[in-house]
Amino acid sequence: MTAIRQLRLGRMSLPESHPRAAERICEICCYVIDHPDGLIVVDTGPRAGHPLIDKLYAPEVTPVTNALAASGFDERNVAAVINTHLHFDHCGQNHLLGHAPVWVTEAELQVSTTERYTVPEWAHIEPSRLRLAADGELIAAGVQLLHTPGHSPGHLSVAVQTEWGLEIVVGQACYSCAEFEAATTVASDMHGPSWHSVGLDSMAHLRSLNPTRAHFSHDAQEFGA
Ligand SMILES: [Zn+2]
Repeated sequence: MTAIRQLRLGRMSLPESHPRAAERICEICCYVIDHPDGLIVVDTGPRAGHPLIDKLYAPEVTPVTNALAASGFDERNVAAVINTHLHFDHCGQNHLLGHAPVWVTEAELQVSTTERYTVPEWAHIEPSRLRLAADGELIAAGVQLLHTPGHSPGHLSVAVQTEWGLEIVVGQACYSCAEFEAATTVASDMHGPSWHSVGLDSMAHLRSLNPTRAHFSHDAQEFGA
């Protein structure tokens, strides 16, 4: 039976310029969908060793392959990666799972090449690995991709039928479990001021699915758990 497991990949400190600077620390959570057809990893965290990222965010990072092993998973069983979006802290270790295809939206690929959006070399997906995600697409039995724009133009969440019922890997469609409970998002977390209403629509859609559990990129607390 399909299950979702949280992988704690580490944490970053937030620079003064960040909208959430007052919180100082940002947790980095990725998820493994343990599916009968193979493992599906949702996001891969940042990578260490980038001078500007290290200076601004000082990430303390566990390699996703180590985190998988520590949770009893064999990286060779990873059948796919999903990038909720291509900010540096969500795609930085795609290269460690280089045998697996990567699902991402066309809208996200397009924005990822714009100035100051991400670390371009981390966000680059080799053509042989690239799988373009369509809203509502089933990539395995009971695993559905949902386009949830707001935080980023091409953001994806993942709806999964599991032993617990319908679970959603929200990603960063909202920042925290508390925001999900309130079906809201914060304007400063959006791609730009004009994206807040879009982000609120995405949250309303996710809540309307009435999931039993939900999981977040930057909050280890899980809704419904
Ligand atoms: Zn982001």
